[in-house]
Amino acid sequence: MSSKLKITKEGLNAIAITVDSYRIRVLIDAKKEILGSGIYNEEQYDEMLFKMFDEELLKYKLFNYLSNSNNFKTIRKFSEENSIEIRKTLSLLELLKNEKLIGVNEIYDIIEGDENTPESSSFKDLDIVKFDGDPSRVKSIYEPVKTIFETHNCSGCGLCAGICPVNCLEIYNGFGKIDEDKCIRCGLCYFVCPRSYLPVTVLNMTQDQASEIKNYSQVGHYLEAYSARTKLSEIAETCQDGGITSTCLYYLFDSKNIDKALGAKMSRTPWRPEPIILQKKEDVLSTTGTKYVSNPNLKILKDLNKSPSNLAVVGVPCMMQALLKSSIYNIGIPSLNQIKYRIGIFCMESFSYESFVKICEALKVDVKDVKKTNINKGKFFVYSNSGEELTVPIKEIGHLARGDCEVCFDLTSESADISIGSIGSPSGWNSVLIRTETGKELYQSLIENDLIESKPLADVKPGLPLLEKIAKSKKTKCTKHIDEKKTENLRYPHY
Ligand code: SF4
Ligand code: SF4
Ligand code: SF4
Repeated sequence: MSSKLKITKEGLNAIAITVDSYRIRVLIDAKKEILGSGIYNEEQYDEMLFKMFDEELLKYKLFNYLSNSNNFKTIRKFSEENSIEIRKTLSLLELLKNEKLIGVNEIYDIIEGDENTPESSSFKDLDIVKFDGDPSRVKSIYEPVKTIFETHNCSGCGLCAGICPVNCLEIYNGFGKIDEDKCIRCGLCYFVCPRSYLPVTVLNMTQDQASEIKNYSQVGHYLEAYSARTKLSEIAETCQDGGITSTCLYYLFDSKNIDKALGAKMSRTPWRPEPIILQKKEDVLSTTGTKYVSNPNLKILKDLNKSPSNLAVVGVPCMMQALLKSSIYNIGIPSLNQIKYRIGIFCMESFSYESFVKICEALKVDVKDVKKTNINKGKFFVYSNSGEELTVPIKEIGHLARGDCEVCFDLTSESADISIGSIGSPSGWNSVLIRTETGKELYQSLIENDLIESKPLADVKPGLPLLEKIAKSKKTKCTKHIDEKKTENLRYPHY
């Protein structure tokens, strides 16, 4: 329990609600099952319980603090009085909103454009309304993620399976399944899932270290943008484009900044990737090359609770969102606390393994004979072992992409420390967006150690304009699909 809590009538009220909170009670009641599953030991269980208690306490304290009419000033005042950052208070506000205990309306001023500048908006204020309700009875939003699977909102990131305290979740080939008999209905999976609710405003503020809500470009917040390629010949020979992702991992192992990395490699079935924990720089070569088949990398986090490490995670945007969300709502999950670097790759869409096989069939190539795949200039490219280049327009295979990816707004891994992809750079090079100080330090080290060639993205063609254009088209597509779900009264992710 937080030692910082002042014993006031409101404080006692918040403690009473927290002890009675569904999320706290369920963890206490299921202690035996949780320890029996072996995912977390007793010390880790206690830490998680107390951490969640602190978070819930602060949330209910905010709920009690709100009056009938509140605005951004209220949030600022609560943050000051409790010595917490505004983005922390905003993250709690988001939780209360999703628990339907409050309503929040973001108010923006529209700034008119002219022929040279498009119309834009600027944050003005929040309009927060407190509803009548009993916070301790809130259960509905902490349901198992079965509801995310069944409503085709799951991104297949794997985090729910990576943290489930009784190990009753499996994600395979992009689709999830819960062992209902083992599930204790703690809702932790729902809590970390990027497709339940995702506080995008807070995510952006966290990346920017900002204390005010700001507007962001189509590719999210970034500090610097480059075009780069590796100088390491063994990576250059096997990599897809510029080899920057592999070079990052190579350097981090070599410099002992990390002792483990989480990525994807091909399984024994050709072109069906599987998660891998890399232990040394020599392992990096087993992960080179882009894989378009869905792979729930983050599910392997459950194997990392026992041995503390400095960890780098390579993943697609939905995985980076899951990790950043979990660090904002930190409930002391040991494997998540080990993550030092989030290396995001660009992703337009992913395919199930069966769909990938269908694409190969349409191109009249055996999956076993595929050497390399790529998406570029609106086409899906397959290069065969015999040297053939086969292509199909993306719009002709769009129907084969995972339906769940339709509600994904993020092309460029906006929640990563450093984002890497091919769009925007010439062939054989990567576009790199540096988003955080951690990412900046890493990239500088690659340059200082003479591991990469680097130039500003502004100096290459097609450059940032193309990247922004494609990122915008993904956002527009996502909004369209979410609007369709809304019209049909179907569940959609709360971004
Ligand atoms: S599936 Fe979700 S709700 Fe069920 S035990 Fe695992 S984390 Fe908890
Ligand atoms: S999006 Fe990720 S966390 Fe959510 S249900 Fe799917 S695999 Fe689990
Ligand atoms: S399109 Fe989005 S949801 Fe689908 S795999 Fe890529 S990042 Fe994840």
